[in-house]
Amino acid sequence: MPVDVPKMDTAFSKLGLCDALAFGVQEKGYTEPTPIQAQSIPQILAGRDVIGSAQTGTGKTAAFALPIIQMLAGHGALRCLILEPTRELALQVEEAFQTYAKFTDLQVTIVYGGVGYGKQLEDLKRGMDILAATPGRLLDHLEQRNCSLKDIDVLVLDEVDRMLDMGFLPDVKRIVEQTPKSRQTLFFTATLPPEIAQLASWALRDPVRVEIGRQRSPAETISHAFYPVVASQKFDLLQLLLEQTDFKSVLVFTRTRMGADRIARRLQNNGHTVGVMHSDRSQRERVEALDGFKSGKFEMLIATDIAARGLDIAGVSHVINYDVPENAEDYVHRIGRTGRAQNTGDAFTLVTEDDVRDARSIERYMGVAVERKKVEGFPYIYSALFDENAQPATAKPTSRLHRGMRR
Ligand code: AMP
Repeated sequence: MPVDVPKMDTAFSKLGLCDALAFGVQEKGYTEPTPIQAQSIPQILAGRDVIGSAQTGTGKTAAFALPIIQMLAGHGALRCLILEPTRELALQVEEAFQTYAKFTDLQVTIVYGGVGYGKQLEDLKRGMDILAATPGRLLDHLEQRNCSLKDIDVLVLDEVDRMLDMGFLPDVKRIVEQTPKSRQTLFFTATLPPEIAQLASWALRDPVRVEIGRQRSPAETISHAFYPVVASQKFDLLQLLLEQTDFKSVLVFTRTRMGADRIARRLQNNGHTVGVMHSDRSQRERVEALDGFKSGKFEMLIATDIAARGLDIAGVSHVINYDVPENAEDYVHRIGRTGRAQNTGDAFTLVTEDDVRDARSIERYMGVAVERKKVEGFPYIYSALFDENAQPATAKPTSRLHRGMRR
């Protein structure tokens, strides 16, 4: 590893990271390792398999990327494969590796579906040390012998529960089978249903478990509340919330693709700059929406759950669930887009009469009651919703709830 960097003595170097990497993260502005980094980095450097459950926004990517870069040391063959469920996550991981590996000569490449093969073929031909990939497209490349996994030393299976949801586990298994048995495997999943536990015991060897915080709860830095409202007043309430909120960047989640398009149009008509992200949009449109949101060109991104998991969008100040997610776990993922890595964030969820059951199942899932809030000055036409929801789903509110109430 080229070392024209100063001698480092930081919290990161104490974890066993070399000067180049400790310097790199310092340049990026990290002063302290996050808990998952503190726990995983020494274990990964020691060559152990790891099964990690960490919430998104905990610094998970650096937790595996930094020690992997150190272990690979210098340019050689394709020795590290990271499997991700979506192209957005794969892109994000590739970017993180590119950043952290800045002071090395390691080559990082990415392959994912939904785009042409040309550039990917060229990249694969050029050769790389680290490959981030989605399972389907990687299998295509493997079948066409465009790359080989025979030299893989480290395999990262990320967001495995999402891979299960998306039906990718058979593909993942076929890919794992093409890697050497002697590899080191790092396995990340937010939940551990039986299918995933089975995959883990098949793919991992004597793994260390790294568990960060309570899996089911959102980050402590997020304050979140439910806003009961009748369906016909949802958009009006959204508008008032936006008017009353001093936001920098807002991520709005809808349940359906059509809903996302509709809300986007209405917000645009009201003078907001808006990007839209859902699975009916082409890959190019999705990248444009995400990049525009990240760069500040769009003050709002309207998305379906495709954007909910794992996407690292720095500085999202607010998340608004225009629709309550059907799946309680998605609530935690959606609101996890704000309050990332110790920043504070706010999350609003509009709850209509039809959502009461889903809202309660979210509270049960997290084991906390979520505060119901009323917006001052809004002409509610049906306030009984507040009474129906007044009883929290759990007997004892948590400190987070109390904190939220003081706001
Ligand atoms: P991740 O959970 O990997 O998606 O990371 C979430 C965000 O935290 C990313 O924007 C990282 O750049 C940032 N991050 C990772 N590690 C640290 C750290 N030790 N200190 C501050 N920010 C960090």
